[in-house]
Amino acid sequence: HQTCLIIGASHAGVNAAFALRKQGWKGNIKLFDREPELPYHRPPLSKVFLSGDTGVEDSLLKGISSYESENIDLQTGRSVTEILPKDKIVRLSDGETCSYDQLLLATGASPLMPPIPGLKSSHKIFGLRTAADARGIRNAFFASSGKRVVVIGGGYIGLEAAASLRKLGGRVTVLEREERVLARVTSPEMSAFFTRLHTDKGVSIATGRNVTAIEIKGSELEVFCGDGSRYAADMLIVGVGVVVNTALAQMAGLKISNGIAVNARMQTSDPDIYAIGDCTSFFHPRYKKEIRLESVQNAVDQAKVAAANICGIPTEYASLPWFWSDQFEVKLQMCGLASGYDRLVVRREEGDDPHQHSCWYFSGDKLLAVDAVNHARAYMLGMKLLKEGKHPAPEKLEDLSLALHPRTV
Ligand code: FAD
Repeated sequence: HQTCLIIGASHAGVNAAFALRKQGWKGNIKLFDREPELPYHRPPLSKVFLSGDTGVEDSLLKGISSYESENIDLQTGRSVTEILPKDKIVRLSDGETCSYDQLLLATGASPLMPPIPGLKSSHKIFGLRTAADARGIRNAFFASSGKRVVVIGGGYIGLEAAASLRKLGGRVTVLEREERVLARVTSPEMSAFFTRLHTDKGVSIATGRNVTAIEIKGSELEVFCGDGSRYAADMLIVGVGVVVNTALAQMAGLKISNGIAVNARMQTSDPDIYAIGDCTSFFHPRYKKEIRLESVQNAVDQAKVAAANICGIPTEYASLPWFWSDQFEVKLQMCGLASGYDRLVVRREEGDDPHQHSCWYFSGDKLLAVDAVNHARAYMLGMKLLKEGKHPAPEKLEDLSLALHPRTV
């Protein structure tokens, strides 16, 4: 029997293993991950897991019995340290080797810890990527008397963590280097919306704050910024982006460009090695450019494409990107990519929910993306139109007398 070996058992790797069986892979499937837990959903880590009393065992990707019934050999707590592509073997941290016929890299990404003096992971300074990180944050939070939390980085993870700890009564400050939060990922309008939301809830958002040093003073941390401002804290969460886990691929001589380079079939520069999920960079046919995405959608859809190709069913990746974020009572759902938009229609429905609205991004008369805030209908319509390549007239979207419906817009 042939062996398909998968490195990384999270959204990408686990979905690939099950998709392989679904597509008829009869050989062995070995699935390695360095984390000790059964694979779990990561998005709740900054959401319900931080603010509630659920554990990762409540959000497993698959129950243990599913791996057994699909004959997937899941080995957690096992780190792969080297790939030897010529011999088609991988080496594990305990020195053991394991051979493969097809190899699938689903190694994801790790939190970036920028080279700021005093900034390194500790029992008070955290990145947020794993269940262990989230548990560490919860423990530090409940152990601190002052509950003063500084979050470095106003991206989605930073803002979600801020909201979750604020809900628990934390005194939370978000320090963002740019002039607005979410600057890299969304429009000024959405940034303003989230800044208002957080400020109304008592989170302090300070933009234009470039953190230059951290000092530990007894049980307290002090955060220094380039503009001379300083912040005292009991704990720190660092959410300034990720480092892509490409080291193994690089050592194996695979092509890297802002991620492990893959073609539309998820094949790397070695035809027997595939890569999927956050660790890949690829040419997206819809956007006609090389991109890297960090989303569950991308991990799951790429997993299915890789599995089909490994099973000999030629399949190419062309999925529409979508993403979500939960902060306080707000659910943001996004589809498409707005980059390069030159026209934005903000549609605010009249209703009971003051947050509810949707943002429609256009380039000329071409719809690029939709952001829907507490607005499932706008999101569903956006998905449908984008998938079908249809472009609603901006004027019709602006007209609140017209319902958000495929027949009216
Ligand atoms: P990862 O989830 O990073 O998994 C990679 C796995 O590979 C890890 O388990 C790692 O331990 C393992 N690994 C790496 N190297 C080795 C090695 N050498 N040996 C063994 N194992 C190895 N996305 C959304 O769409 N919506 C959200 O709301 C959302 N919220 C998020 C909130 C948080 C706090 C975080 C951290 C992420 C969030 N994301 C969200 C992003 C989403 O979780 C990622 O896009 C997704 O996890 C990517 O899956 P992946 O399998 O490619 O990579």
